[in-house]
Amino acid sequence: MSSLPVRLIEPVIDERIFVTQPHLAPLAEFLPYLEKIWNSKVLTNGGPFHQQLEKALCDYLGIDHLALFANGTLALVTALQAHRVTGEVITTPYSFVATAHSLLWNGIKPVFVDIDPDTLNLDPAKIEAAITPHTTAIMPVHCYGRPCDVEAIQKIADNYNLKVIYDAAHAFGVKTRGASVLRHGDLSVLSFHATKVFNTFEGGAIVCPDAKTKQRIDHLKNFGFVDETTVVAPGINGKMSEINAAFGLLQLKHIDEALERRRQIDAKYRGMLADVKGVRCLPEPGSADEYVANHSYFPILVTDEYPVGRDALFQHLRDHDIYARRYFYPLISEFPMYRGLPSAHGANLPVAADAARRVLCLPIYPALENHDMERIVGLIAAPQR
Ligand SMILES: *Cc1c(COP(=O)(O)O)cnc(C)c1O
Repeated sequence: MSSLPVRLIEPVIDERIFVTQPHLAPLAEFLPYLEKIWNSKVLTNGGPFHQQLEKALCDYLGIDHLALFANGTLALVTALQAHRVTGEVITTPYSFVATAHSLLWNGIKPVFVDIDPDTLNLDPAKIEAAITPHTTAIMPVHCYGRPCDVEAIQKIADNYNLKVIYDAAHAFGVKTRGASVLRHGDLSVLSFHATKVFNTFEGGAIVCPDAKTKQRIDHLKNFGFVDETTVVAPGINGKMSEINAAFGLLQLKHIDEALERRRQIDAKYRGMLADVKGVRCLPEPGSADEYVANHSYFPILVTDEYPVGRDALFQHLRDHDIYARRYFYPLISEFPMYRGLPSAHGANLPVAADAARRVLCLPIYPALENHDMERIVGLIAAPQR
């Protein structure tokens, strides 16, 4: 009884290490933005911070047009609406479930196609066989921010007159041949969720190739309103608020330091894991001067040479307060609303099934310290201890 007040004021030290931790700008730096919002009383509906963030992101990413959204999932749903995509869409089972959910929300039938074993992205060689008279689009994912084979995908799309809508939720800041990977396809969709490389707490965006497409998307994200009395489409409320947009402007000031620390962590993991038998890191795509990665995730694949299975390693790390994540397990095609589809059958997706069984994403975020990484790799190197 007498010890109770003392215990109540003891600081709670959380020793757990999660797969990610949001990178937050110092709170004091955010206060001037809040003061501006409180003074102007403009809280949403495309206010000044919303406009500034759209412009700042275009400049930073090296793209021409972008429409902000309240989150990445609404942006995916709206991107499909913008191109009036219907029928069947070819997509990957190896992703976050929102990729396929955005299809179901549009009454579209997902058709799952297997992935490439090196990139874990949609395998272009397997797309053509899945095309039917109902196919209208391809929705690939730049999984872990690693670029899809964009040229091969575009070639197929051109041959069959299909739209390409990239789920680029992982691909913020990624460049191929010195330019943004977001320039590919008809549209690309970003997520600024708290767990992503660049976050606005919740948020997302559609990258558009021209002003006309952006205008249509801007109407769709605001109920279809064109002006006070004109509604041109059954739009949704997908708008980003001024608080999120202001926070995004501040976050953008700190993004380069965050990406640099991620790069260092990736290199250190690769170096330390090189000697660990039975653990495979994904190869770095392309040469350094033309490919810029964002190191949004650090996936490893647990091979048959490893002394225990992936799930035993996952549990071993948990027992030591390391919360690695099995991204992406289960496959989207295994969830109840998808598993009845003919394309969801395991025999159609052997590479994805194998990756889902072996993958483990290790903690990676700017505040992760070298001694944490050394401890994590130590635990991986001695899974039976
Ligand atoms: C995070 C994520 C989404 C969803 O984005 P939200 O902003 O959380 O709605 C969609 N697809 C992929 C691949 C994601 O990782």
